[in-house]
Amino acid sequence: MSLTSDPGLATAPSASCLLCGTPGDPFRSGLEDRLFGVPGAWSLRRCAECGLAWLDPQPLEAEMGKAYRRYYTHADEDPVDRAGPRVSYPHRKLRRLYRWVLRKLGVMSARDRLLGMFLGGVPPGTLLEVGCGNGLRLGQLARDGWQVTGQDVDPSAAEHALARHGVSVRVGPLADLGLPPATFDCILMNHVVEHLHDPVAVLRECHRLLKSGGRLVVITPNMASLGQALFGADWRGLEPPRHIHIFSPTSLLSLARLSGFATVEAFSSVAHAELFASQSLDLQRQGTVIMGAEPAWAVEWRAMAFQIREAWAQRTAPEVGEEAVLIARRD
Ligand SMILES: [Zn+2]
Repeated sequence: MSLTSDPGLATAPSASCLLCGTPGDPFRSGLEDRLFGVPGAWSLRRCAECGLAWLDPQPLEAEMGKAYRRYYTHADEDPVDRAGPRVSYPHRKLRRLYRWVLRKLGVMSARDRLLGMFLGGVPPGTLLEVGCGNGLRLGQLARDGWQVTGQDVDPSAAEHALARHGVSVRVGPLADLGLPPATFDCILMNHVVEHLHDPVAVLRECHRLLKSGGRLVVITPNMASLGQALFGADWRGLEPPRHIHIFSPTSLLSLARLSGFATVEAFSSVAHAELFASQSLDLQRQGTVIMGAEPAWAVEWRAMAFQIREAWAQRTAPEVGEEAVLIARRD
């Protein structure tokens, strides 16, 4: 454990892969927090065996509050569709043509599946969302018949979830909540696992909390994506220092097996390629992303082109989607 010269976050070295134990190769350096301005320059290592990437050195867990001071979980904005209603007729026409192409490429159904957390056809039961933020999704799932419980470390997100969506959220780290074993039919983690210092411990706790036959669904930025390869240090999925580990379908499989799950599948999704590209292009062009703002037209059409390109590429390279998805069952 050591203090860096930077007054921001205290860090500790982390040279080996959490999943394989092998030393990682230096992958990127000099990365900065260009979303919320947390001070520090960050480096990533990558495992040659499983493809996992991680921060080395890593900010200490006790320091992470500083990295989330200006975070946005309690806001209710839907970050998915940045292209709101436009006035210009050619623009609307182009968007309509674009949506038609996306339907033909299966992107619209990929978006439906992902936004539904891959629960289509699963009979409602008891459900826990780990890192539920503002509770918007849990409110929707409750209306679909699920008996929902939320977990989050942010008390203001929990207040918002109750006031706005009528959802009760337990505040604190999952392992500290004292939840009884075999409680849930389903556990969801949407863009949470990349923020964890010890994802194996958290997935083991999920395994303990699931009923026999229960399912865990994890969605996270995909290190094996086309966006990561193309945008490099500007790729939106990196988000240092809040993203500690960056997974791929392959590394999600080994994470799940290490955590006690025997029945596992992992794949990539191209659902949000446009959003990832749009925000990566913002980082490339202006060094930050203005949340909730509509992208410049030049960014928008390039993001649309990227969405089509990635959906097309996935036909022959299944791992290129911007997000990696894990579905694991407790036997
Ligand atoms: Zn590894």
